[in-house]
Amino acid sequence: MSSYQQPDQRGHFGPYGGSFVSETLTHAINELREAYARYQHDPDFIAEFQRELAHFVGRPSPVYHAERMSRELGGAQIFLKREDLNHTGAHKVNNTIGQAMLARRMGKPRVIAETGAGQHGVATATICARYGLECVVYMGSEDIKRQSPNVYRMKLLGATVVPVESGSKTLKDALNEALRDWVANVDNTFYIIGTVAGPHPYPMMVRDFQSVIGQESLVQMPEMLARAGCHAPQPDAVLACVGGGSNAMGIFHPYIPHAGTRLIGVEAAGLGLDSGKHSASLQRGSPGVLHGNRTYVLQDDNGQVTETHSISAGLDYPGVGPEHAYLKDIGRAEYVGVTDDQALAAFHHLCRTEGIIPALESSHAIAYAMQLAPTLRRDQSLLVCLSGRGDKDIGTVADLSHADFYCRPSCQGQAVKGGSDQPITLVRAGAAA
Ligand SMILES: *Cc1c(COP(=O)(O)O)cnc(C)c1O
Repeated sequence: MSSYQQPDQRGHFGPYGGSFVSETLTHAINELREAYARYQHDPDFIAEFQRELAHFVGRPSPVYHAERMSRELGGAQIFLKREDLNHTGAHKVNNTIGQAMLARRMGKPRVIAETGAGQHGVATATICARYGLECVVYMGSEDIKRQSPNVYRMKLLGATVVPVESGSKTLKDALNEALRDWVANVDNTFYIIGTVAGPHPYPMMVRDFQSVIGQESLVQMPEMLARAGCHAPQPDAVLACVGGGSNAMGIFHPYIPHAGTRLIGVEAAGLGLDSGKHSASLQRGSPGVLHGNRTYVLQDDNGQVTETHSISAGLDYPGVGPEHAYLKDIGRAEYVGVTDDQALAAFHHLCRTEGIIPALESSHAIAYAMQLAPTLRRDQSLLVCLSGRGDKDIGTVADLSHADFYCRPSCQGQAVKGGSDQPITLVRAGAAA
């Protein structure tokens, strides 16, 4: 794998990727490709990107040895790459900074973006505020209802949020609407895509910006592993959740030449891989074209994109980045599924054993690490990309646990106590412990 050079000049990862866009977008895509080719190796561009990551995002993000969790599971040592500690609380900002820097150099004063849960929308609005760029975010009206705190965050940051009423009123419809806006406004507008999808050069460019996650890990792991009594200088496996696949590509890519490290992508199995209610494009989809590239798509026999489901809005996407499709086919990466219930259990487990509240997306990767660790030796290791923090999800988790999130009058004057099992229970003051 030491000669891994993907994609080719035209953005193909084997039979996947490429650029399937209308003629009206060809010019914009060419312009973007040329700009990225020009700045990608430009020392000033790279130096500015690194400065932004250090001073605005707070990188490098630490690698943390989850010792208590590892000990309880009784197998491999589990390490977490703490993308949740980034400014704005997830890995998404690594990419929005890179693309916004390009927008400035290309003289585009207006930025558009699509968003599902609102995480990419917030990360885009954040960098637009910092750079003084106009920001318009397309968001399905269903998602707007489900994710109101992020809608308000974007507004606070000065962005305009446009509700999308077409289709299922969710992420894939927002993406279509953003592409339509781009066609109409190519001259002054830069489209910041939030994951490793879309037409070439997006999958490559987003991967490159996110690769900082894996590059830092390669440097950080040898010392962490030595201190934990592990013999290998790099982890036995790297795990990440896969929605569109950007945090996974970011941590996987620098590890591709390291044959001793398994790469495991965890998709949302929702109510089960055979329930028809999941978002596991790589495991239950088939090759097709979606949003400008060829990849695995969840579709019916007529090529209609099917409805997806996941407890975590960030994984609820019917496609996946084309490079994952390629890594799956050549066998360099494996893809597995974790259900809503397993992810929720892992969410609670990490909260209670390590004092870290993970995003529900990231909880999918944690859940698979919890299954895998006991099958390995104590001197082996797993590195999990903790893609984001779970503050955005506590309302969802409270609803699922039937907990009284807002502490209505019935719970006032009572001590709030967590038990060893969900749901979290309320205990009357003075009651025997
Ligand atoms: C958006 C998001 C994801 C999924 O997106 P990828 O492109 O697959 O990384 C995962 N985790 C968090 C915290 C997110 O916000």
